[in-house]
Amino acid sequence: MCDSARAESDDYGVRIFESANVDASLQRADIQRGYTVVIWRGRHVTEPFELTEDESARYWRAVMRVARALMDYYRPLKMNYETLGNSVPHLHTHLLPRYVEDPAPGRPFPLLPQDGSERRIPDDELWAQARALRERLG
Ligand SMILES: [Zn+2]
Repeated sequence: MCDSARAESDDYGVRIFESANVDASLQRADIQRGYTVVIWRGRHVTEPFELTEDESARYWRAVMRVARALMDYYRPLKMNYETLGNSVPHLHTHLLPRYVEDPAPGRPFPLLPQDGSERRIPDDELWAQARALRERLG
């Protein structure tokens, strides 16, 4: 994640937010409507407590801003925030909207490691959602 080019769009998703040190990417994998990953783009850190107070404020403000935009746009019942980093040890947070129709009501979202074989959201749908979210985040 440290070395990635911060492309507008890559194999994993389409960027909907960027700041000096943070990107957010709406995911292509058709796992949950609105599933977005926020990535810290400053120096390499694994744990959020490795950030300075200022970096931490910038990171979590961005996470909250993106989460609010997802809530406004998709209207889920609840947002979930998963800062895991077990398989990719670079600071990032999975934002998972939770709906009435849900694979695991009342429990953590069953997020599995992705290997690229997941069903994908059609490009035109994904980009339409990304454009709407960018407008809200602009
Ligand atoms: Zn890193």
